[in-house]
Amino acid sequence: MKTSTRFFSWIMVCFIAVSIVCLSLAGYEARAAEFKTIEPGVLTVGTSTGFPPFEYIGDDGNPDGFDVAFIKEVGKRLGLKVKVQDMEFNALVASVGNKTDVAIAGMTVTDERKQAVDFSDPYYDAVQYVLVRKGSNMRSINDLHGATLAAQLGTTGNLLADDIVKANSQTVLKTYDRFPEAVNDLKAGRVDAIILDKTPAQTFERIYSGEIEAVSGDEFGFEVEKYAVAMPKGSNQLSSAINKAIADLKNDGTYDRIINEYINADGGERSNTIVDQFVSAFITSNRWSMYLNGLLLTMQIAFFAALVGIVIGTLLALMRITKNHKGKNTILSLISGIYIDIIRGTPLVLQLLIMWFIIMKNSKDGVLVAVVAFGLNSAAYVAEIIRAGILAVDSGQMEAGRSMGFTRAQTMRYIVLPQALKNSLPPLCNEFISLLKETAIVGYVALSDLTRVANQISSATYQPFVPLIGAAVIYFVVIKILTLLLGVLERRLRRSDIR
Ligand code: GLN
Repeated sequence: MKTSTRFFSWIMVCFIAVSIVCLSLAGYEARAAEFKTIEPGVLTVGTSTGFPPFEYIGDDGNPDGFDVAFIKEVGKRLGLKVKVQDMEFNALVASVGNKTDVAIAGMTVTDERKQAVDFSDPYYDAVQYVLVRKGSNMRSINDLHGATLAAQLGTTGNLLADDIVKANSQTVLKTYDRFPEAVNDLKAGRVDAIILDKTPAQTFERIYSGEIEAVSGDEFGFEVEKYAVAMPKGSNQLSSAINKAIADLKNDGTYDRIINEYINADGGERSNTIVDQFVSAFITSNRWSMYLNGLLLTMQIAFFAALVGIVIGTLLALMRITKNHKGKNTILSLISGIYIDIIRGTPLVLQLLIMWFIIMKNSKDGVLVAVVAFGLNSAAYVAEIIRAGILAVDSGQMEAGRSMGFTRAQTMRYIVLPQALKNSLPPLCNEFISLLKETAIVGYVALSDLTRVANQISSATYQPFVPLIGAAVIYFVVIKILTLLLGVLERRLRRSDIR
């Protein structure tokens, strides 16, 4: 070959190679840019632990299980990092598209869910089973009539149980946020049967072998269901990429590998002696640090919510007190009165959910949402405390201030309010202590506070005793220390009164 021809061929080869690299890079870029995820470059995935082996809290305190491993593989193929958020099963569908990009939780494709979300191609076949106490002879739908049934809220098992209740009015149905709580009640005899998916039913049967057993759904005539990934409606590019990733996973053996790792493997060790339970609840995989982080989160939310509460509460109190000066309602006192009425007249957990799902639905920061919700709630109570504090200040103080040439506002600010705050200190401290305990519901917005951590660890270890009592002791100790400190503060302030 002539040198010039060889040279020319080399140039061509290099050109083609560079073009291939550029094109595939561009393709990758375009692919990454195709999906608008909530957080750029990250696939935020909602799941609901307590559904082993598909999702449970792993030894390191993070969600693990077949679904988690599966979606991480999917994410890898989409060029996205996967971030998993654990929440109640019943909240998953509503969260898709605003709090999460997709949800995976052994979720059955149903027509009703299809109204709200799109589903990927199915990745697993399932059927509902019935979990009963060992020795129970429930083997048909008729046997379930008149029994106390259990299901996890919002699941297909819940729908089947509803049908049974409709057919027989003697049947009672109890719904649970998470299956482990239902299993606990089954063992305790509070419910007679749980309707839940086959593989989790078999896993619970293995964990509590000798106590409960899983009865095949065939005996009850339950039909096959298909699990799929839930995605926002109309997310065509995301859905075709996810479907392609699922097909690839199945073809290249990854799917079988995670099936073997999670579904075909035994698992779910349970410790029996109290010392073992203590070790697995606190020591194994440094679980103590989960309680510590939970406690810090609890304190952080309570502290900032208390600040919001004091500031807004004082404003509300001042607004409300205008009625006393004028002798009749003012716009300000009316607004403040209505606000306080609404907050006091509705449950805190609903206010939190409304904040999370409706008012601040685009906020990803659960802590911020919790601080706002608890702060606005606390403000109503603080307002009443401070109003009472202001009213308890002798009216002569206002007159004295005015006669010294202060305006009403100045007297309020420099003379009345400081005394009012001092009067209000003991009830304000109580309010803070209540707040600290009230934050225990933040698990609803996917935050791992102390209570949620205790719950997670009890479902990871299948032993509720030590984690729950442990968390209660931690709350108690923290609150006791706070009460003692606040007592000292109060005594100091009183001493300055006497002087
Ligand atoms: N497969 C059931 C459903 O979709 C239950 C799923 C679950 O509890 N995680 O309703």
